[in-house]
Amino acid sequence: MYRVHGDKKIRRRLDYVKRNNIQQYTEILREDFGNMCGYCGKDLNIVKCPYQKDHLIPEYIAKKTGRLDLLTDYNNLVYSCRVCNRNKWHNWPFEDADKTHDDKVGFVDPASDEYDNHLMRDETGRIVPKTSVGNYMHKIFNFSNRLTEVWWNLSVISKELKEIDGMLEQEKTVDGLEQYWILHKKFDGFLEKLEQTNESI
Ligand SMILES: [Zn+2]
Repeated sequence: MYRVHGDKKIRRRLDYVKRNNIQQYTEILREDFGNMCGYCGKDLNIVKCPYQKDHLIPEYIAKKTGRLDLLTDYNNLVYSCRVCNRNKWHNWPFEDADKTHDDKVGFVDPASDEYDNHLMRDETGRIVPKTSVGNYMHKIFNFSNRLTEVWWNLSVISKELKEIDGMLEQEKTVDGLEQYWILHKKFDGFLEKLEQTNESI
């Protein structure tokens, strides 16, 4: 089993200047999330695709309950790919903003240790649920019908390729050159798979 975010521990910084316009959080949010979708772990460094700032507790709930502070609260923002953001949209199981889940349904903040308790990846890299809340999120984000393992493999392979690139640069030759081309082929294959779906939009 692997973590949804691989070896990246997503945490929001504690020291930041409070803003009234969330657009001004774009840079630090991208940094804190490592340019990775908090929900599905999609590495947005690999394929350039649009990201969005999701409100963990949705805007309509914040407005409905008079919790307007949540609209611009940095701790309520999740760096998200467009597919996850769109799937979550107005899917909020509660009428209020008091909690994000009740141990049965709801959402877990990806920038917390708790996220790993609910969702993991199997041996192939596919995201699988571990709890009732994990199951709820899995359904809402439609992970069963998405290529979560393809993104995972692209991310793993690209890191390995980068390592070998570094070795090649230093030594000009490398014992694992054959492995390098195998990885490259794999990478291109996964990339092609993505391009045939709407996952990269
Ligand atoms: Zn996502």
